[in-house]
Amino acid sequence: MTNDLMTNDPMTNMEQHRITKAIRTQTERTNEMEHSTPMFLTSSFVFDNAEELRAAFDDESDDNIYTRFSNPGVQEFVDKMVALEGAGAGFATASGMSAVFGSFMALLKKGDHLLSCNSIFGSTHTVISKYLPRYGIEFSYIPATATHHEWEAAIRPNTKMIYLETPTNPGLDIIDIEMVSKISKKHQVILNVDNCFATPLIQRPIEFGADLVIHSATKWIDGQGRVLGGVIVGDTALIKEIYLFNRSTGPALSPFNAWVLSKSLETLDVRMERHAKNALEIADTLEGHEKLAFVKYPFLPSHPQYLIAKKQMSTGGGIVCFELKGGLESGMKFLDNLKMLSLTANLGDTRSIASHPASTTHAKLTEAERQAVNITPGLIRISVGLEYVDDILNDIMQALEAC
Ligand SMILES: *Cc1c(COP(=O)(O)O)cnc(C)c1O
Repeated sequence: MTNDLMTNDPMTNMEQHRITKAIRTQTERTNEMEHSTPMFLTSSFVFDNAEELRAAFDDESDDNIYTRFSNPGVQEFVDKMVALEGAGAGFATASGMSAVFGSFMALLKKGDHLLSCNSIFGSTHTVISKYLPRYGIEFSYIPATATHHEWEAAIRPNTKMIYLETPTNPGLDIIDIEMVSKISKKHQVILNVDNCFATPLIQRPIEFGADLVIHSATKWIDGQGRVLGGVIVGDTALIKEIYLFNRSTGPALSPFNAWVLSKSLETLDVRMERHAKNALEIADTLEGHEKLAFVKYPFLPSHPQYLIAKKQMSTGGGIVCFELKGGLESGMKFLDNLKMLSLTANLGDTRSIASHPASTTHAKLTEAERQAVNITPGLIRISVGLEYVDDILNDIMQALEAC
């Protein structure tokens, strides 16, 4: 895992670590000489004369025209993400789902086939299986644990894109990005990776051959449960297509949310380090607990894809899962027993969150469907926060005792 990608900063002409570059990236200083970026809460931008306006509309200049197309604060957020992921370009959207949807609709057409891993975010699953077919776009799913041979065998002559999430939600399966990218390159298929669970501080799919990387910025990137946002970064030519689709269809990121998210990126490195440190300690402590059938965390040696996790991730991230021996009933009881952890439909917050997929997000699936995506009846997902780790553990322990 290379964590030291250097870039040359045109402002200072100094070699900079990508994290430094992301922290120091800022909109051009105004005459007020502000240190922190101001918010550009404006829907449109003015021009001095008709010629400049004409040139902007004709793409002869990069001048901002209208916030649905571009906004300086939104661009600042994108530039930071581009630096962190090592991408060519990017586009920010109002939510993670509009980033996912835009990447499909801008690049797929009637008759194309999308190959996706089956354990993906619920709304992404709905978009792929319910809405894409309405536009004549075919899809098929493959298990996260599929082998090189199985991935390659799933490619069809009309496959245009491979879509995957790793680590998967909530099962925490790990897919070898490098292995899948070898197949996508061989068959000239776009590899699109949802990197929400890891963030670019832990995993950079482009370095392993991905063409596009998607984030729900709502999660770890904001990291404080305040705003929705999304972003797609990657190959410059593909991003151009995605930009043109989004500029016309309108899922623009609000400049206010962009300001919040851009500031959040400046602390993402230290936050993810602590989330992951707390998560590893919790996973280590819980492993072997008498009430648990298993504990799953990418950096526990007992994880089935531990070696792949070690290859492509710098830490195990902030999510820990475990299976209660008592199944469905114990899962709900565990949630009720918690005194501090929040019961809420989010993840990636300063505050630890517990969820029980079998009785909530995945309750509508059949038992067989849940099994196919590794959601067992007593599975609990903990989004580990930044509270003092002993306090998080104490709450989990007392809730387990009473199960
Ligand atoms: C939350 C989430 C999304 C969707 O993002 P929103 O910002 O809620 O639209 C997509 N992928 C993953 C893995 C997520 O966790």
